[in-house]
Amino acid sequence: MKILVINTGSSSLKYQLIDMKNEKVLAKGLCDRIGLGGSFIKQTTNNGGELKKETELKNHNEAITKTISLLTDSGVIRSMDEITAVGHRVVHGGEKFCKSALIDEEVIKAIEECIILAPLHNGPNMIGIKACREILPNVPMVAVFDTAFHQTMPEKAYIYALPYSFYEEKGIRRYGFHGTSHKYVAQRAAAFLNKPFDTLKIVTCHLGNGSSICAVKNGAAVDTSMGYTPLEGVAMGTRCGSIDPAIVTGLIEHDNYDAAMLNELLNKKSGVLGISGISSDFRDLDEAAKGGCDRAELALNVFSYQVKKYIGAYAAAMGGLDVLVFTAGIGENNGDVRKRIVEDLEFLGVEIDYEKNNARGIEIDISKPNAKVRTLIIPTNEELAIARETVSLLNNSKKQ
Ligand code: AMP
Repeated sequence: MKILVINTGSSSLKYQLIDMKNEKVLAKGLCDRIGLGGSFIKQTTNNGGELKKETELKNHNEAITKTISLLTDSGVIRSMDEITAVGHRVVHGGEKFCKSALIDEEVIKAIEECIILAPLHNGPNMIGIKACREILPNVPMVAVFDTAFHQTMPEKAYIYALPYSFYEEKGIRRYGFHGTSHKYVAQRAAAFLNKPFDTLKIVTCHLGNGSSICAVKNGAAVDTSMGYTPLEGVAMGTRCGSIDPAIVTGLIEHDNYDAAMLNELLNKKSGVLGISGISSDFRDLDEAAKGGCDRAELALNVFSYQVKKYIGAYAAAMGGLDVLVFTAGIGENNGDVRKRIVEDLEFLGVEIDYEKNNARGIEIDISKPNAKVRTLIIPTNEELAIARETVSLLNNSKKQ
């Protein structure tokens, strides 16, 4: 069974073809600059093949057609009939989707209704789904939502203190994102520790360009740091995270900021880039801080401190903590940031072994042997999670 996993952006399309017999990635690639000119496809295959093809990609239909041709031309598959199903990453499922869905006309309509909640993401996701359905009309497709795992949050965690009608009429509430990753690493953590998922209090820290923290109690998400959009929560690469909303109204009143300027400021110019004035990439910040740059050091401290506060808050929300998980680019690779985050959390039972904390990108328990809380690095794999969901939905639909 071969599953094609698609993640569509406004001018890009990432893909992986996964053989579910052994969960091996047969090929992965990126179509970039779709509709912009200067477009290309880059692909690597599991036998070490690497290629970059400059080719016109006028739209997403053309990107998908050429991706499938590339998969056949490079010998990864003989024909597109070998693709059993397609799993699509969809950013926003609103309140309509608390789990993945087999795509049909009704599901498409419901995803379209969520576009207003995430126009920059769901719009392109929808274009990708429609293009795939046109090119592979007989292949079943599944939508896997970034928000779905968080739909188990209780009302007290997702309602903002705004007039209640804003929730009822406009759907303004916390949704949370990175759900596919949080679910995957939380389940992997339980399996790694050989403990039932539904008995554990877990905090998962997905720390990458975008970062979010999630509280998972007895197998279900109960709170998460991202909110109505992926802007809330901890400071990120270029996103500000949570700030006093009066800063925004002040900038409108006193500095003539409009919505476009605010979006640019809060999404692109803030976060650790804004604080350091150097970079959004933690590797650059590490280097600058080691070289004596005070603002790079400050950016690392602000980020780590904010993550630490969420861990404490979520331990309080769950009435305890059994497992702390680090994942994504920073969480998996940056031992210095992990160390800054867990410093002073001994009172909660979080104690790490600094030697083990040097590990990168592998599944490992980095806690001290007698620590009450198990602190783990679990590399995330959203594509595999999407492929597994796709297979699971296909099997369920066959049973019905
Ligand atoms: P992501 O969005 O998950 O790709 O994460 C991007 C962030 O992870 C950047 O700030 C990088 O500095 C960091 N990162 C990714 N890979 C590595 C690595 N191999 N070593 C250190 N940091 C990394």
